[in-house]
Amino acid sequence: MLPQTCDVIVVGAGNAAMCAALAAREHPGIEVLVLERAPEAESGGNTRFTAGAMRFAYNGIEDLRELMPDLTDDEVARTDFGAYTESQFFDDMARVTENRADPDLVELLVRRSKPTLLWLRGKGMRFAPIYGRQAFNVDGRFKFWGGLTVEAWGGGPGIVEAQKSAASKHGIRVAYEARAMSLLHDDDGVHGVTVRYRGKTHSIRSRAVVLAAGGFEANPEWRTRYLGPGWDLAKVRGTRFNTGDGIRMALEAGAAPCGNWSGCHAVGWDRNAPEFGDLAVGDGFQKHSYPFGIMLNAHGERFVDEGADFRNYTYAKYGAVILRQPGQFAWQIFDRKVLHLLRDEYRIRQVTKVVADTLEALAAKLDDVDAARALHTIHQYNAAVRTDILFNPNVKDGRCTQGLPMPKSNWANPIDEPPFEAYAVSCGITFTFGGLRITPDAQVLDTDGAPIPGLYAAGELVGGLFYFNYPGGTGLASGAVFGRIAGHSAGGAASG
Ligand SMILES: Cc1cc2nc3c(=O)[nH]c(=O)nc-3n(C[C@H](O)[C@H](O)[C@H](O)COP(=O)(O)OP(=O)(O)OC[C@H]3O[C@@H](n4cnc5c(N)ncnc54)[C@H](O)[C@@H]3O)c2cc1C
Repeated sequence: MLPQTCDVIVVGAGNAAMCAALAAREHPGIEVLVLERAPEAESGGNTRFTAGAMRFAYNGIEDLRELMPDLTDDEVARTDFGAYTESQFFDDMARVTENRADPDLVELLVRRSKPTLLWLRGKGMRFAPIYGRQAFNVDGRFKFWGGLTVEAWGGGPGIVEAQKSAASKHGIRVAYEARAMSLLHDDDGVHGVTVRYRGKTHSIRSRAVVLAAGGFEANPEWRTRYLGPGWDLAKVRGTRFNTGDGIRMALEAGAAPCGNWSGCHAVGWDRNAPEFGDLAVGDGFQKHSYPFGIMLNAHGERFVDEGADFRNYTYAKYGAVILRQPGQFAWQIFDRKVLHLLRDEYRIRQVTKVVADTLEALAAKLDDVDAARALHTIHQYNAAVRTDILFNPNVKDGRCTQGLPMPKSNWANPIDEPPFEAYAVSCGITFTFGGLRITPDAQVLDTDGAPIPGLYAAGELVGGLFYFNYPGGTGLASGAVFGRIAGHSAGGAASG
């Protein structure tokens, strides 16, 4: 049975929602109810599908030791963790969003990133360095690159389990298969939700509601409506439950839309992946080692600078570029020299891959591609590589091509040593960027710019942070930062 009243209702049970619930519960005596649309086994939204990488600002090894006291001296000795300062984080947010990101939200995200991860540690989450994906071993020493250094233990499923057990420890109830349908609201603000729970509709009154129900990436009709024609054809990387309910409910209650409604995070994703994410595969359908090879479309042509930047700063916008190619697919091509650099996801069983010992044979195996043109493109690319510049995967090495209409700016290697491997990708959408306008206290604003009493929001359904692109690892970090703020504000409002 669901209760008829509660102090704070949190809609969703992903990372943002659970951070909100835990923060609200820190107010003495505040009862918190979490409503999760999915059954328990599929709960946790996109959070469950992640590898758990979290971006945060740190000044050096002492900050990392504070978050990961179990780092060994040996790990520290053989690793260059560098630093990722607040000012680097600010710069990255400004650069990748082309200076569109809301400065107040970015300020909170950056400055609260480290305290929030430490707070999560206090709630039972554990963190570890991302050796596998964010550091290459060069001459016996690992060097982290691209501002992304830690991941949560156990990846996405680990986050969901850790937050679920923290919720249970703190007396927070999570109701599964409980789909919030609308907000109870009047001139005085929001007073609860209606929820469809195991086939029946209920009203639950509350003093505050936190919406953390994700974006609209799993809703093909909204994707086409807001992202544009063709987006109905994208594959969904994560949960099938994020269909924009939280955003819709808030708009119906007078909330203001905000941010990049025609933009989203989307990546190169196996061409034959299913329509929605598969929890058994997690993020394994992604193919993110393209900076070390080239990508060809159906015409056998390159269409993007694969080495424009570290993958952390390009992968989230290249899905859209792939979607715009004829047939919405591309092939990623590599040769022997770089196979050891390919991420784990290239070695999963469910992969669309061809291998050959000659370039001619490889080109002939690329399904739906103009083989003659593909071969010509590879030869032309090989001839343009500046082999006089040293290749180094840990830095933007400037090893580029010269004279091509579509340059490759870093990590260019001639593709000339067999075996040759190619991987077919399409566009996989991760989450949408448009959402609700919030105050720095995570209160939702109405279309006249006034806060809606009793309504707070966090996570993917907040607009204004991401435009065009996104620095890897920021989704979980922003969900945690704004979830904690929203929960704290909602709990405060409910206590007052
Ligand atoms: C494959 C993949 C890999 C990723 N890897 C990373 C990574 O390594 N690092 C990173 O920072 N980000 C990563 N992301 C992005 C990250 O998952 C999201 O930014 C983040 O998890 C969003 O958190 P959230 O709480 O806002 O939404 P979610 O975690 O999606 O939670 C939303 C919740 O709302 C529920 N819900 C929806 N509608 C309703 C309703 N009407 N009523 C009740 N509940 C509802 C859903 O079931 C879900 O539980 C990845 C995403 C995917 C898909």
